[in-house]
Amino acid sequence: MAEDQVHTVERTLVLLKPDALVRGLGGRIISRFEDAALKIVGVKMKWMDEEFTRKHYFDLEERLGAEVYNLTATFMQQGPVIALVLEGYDAIATVRKIVGSTYPNQAPAGTIRGDLSHMSSAGSVAVGKAVANLVHASGNKEEAAQEVELWFDKDELHEYRTLAEIFTN
Ligand code: UDP
Repeated sequence: MAEDQVHTVERTLVLLKPDALVRGLGGRIISRFEDAALKIVGVKMKWMDEEFTRKHYFDLEERLGAEVYNLTATFMQQGPVIALVLEGYDAIATVRKIVGSTYPNQAPAGTIRGDLSHMSSAGSVAVGKAVANLVHASGNKEEAAQEVELWFDKDELHEYRTLAEIFTN
């Protein structure tokens, strides 16, 4: 079987950012993941402080510069976030596909960012605002492993079978 045909069960981290909660979009966003058969195996609400923001976005300053990091850190600390660990086949890529690309004007229709975030919330260094794009999702396997470990203790992650799993196993 070619490698691109092998599908494995993965876990990935999703954050509903402060703008998602302020706009009352939490339930609708979570539904989109559940609709795609992604299983919630961990969930918590947290107010990020600067130390924790640095740990979560540890490479953002190096990647995109101090201004973007500072705007993003301020934005992420404006209110609480909901953290989820989602599990499913190819969960990391599937979640990124459902979330859509970083900038609201580039995220395709049908994605969370494409449908629910708008250019009015699309900040930039030039206007001194972070891009308020509702959701964070781990970018790859290594990031997912690091982020799940940063956000959740082992005993905060749960194993159970969904109805679909009960009927297909
Ligand atoms: N960000 C921003 N302006 C930028 C680039 C990024 O405000 O020009 C913020 C935005 O909230 C983004 C986060 O920093 O989601 C992390 O950036 P990354 O490149 O990792 O994008 P993502 O993986 O979230 O799509």
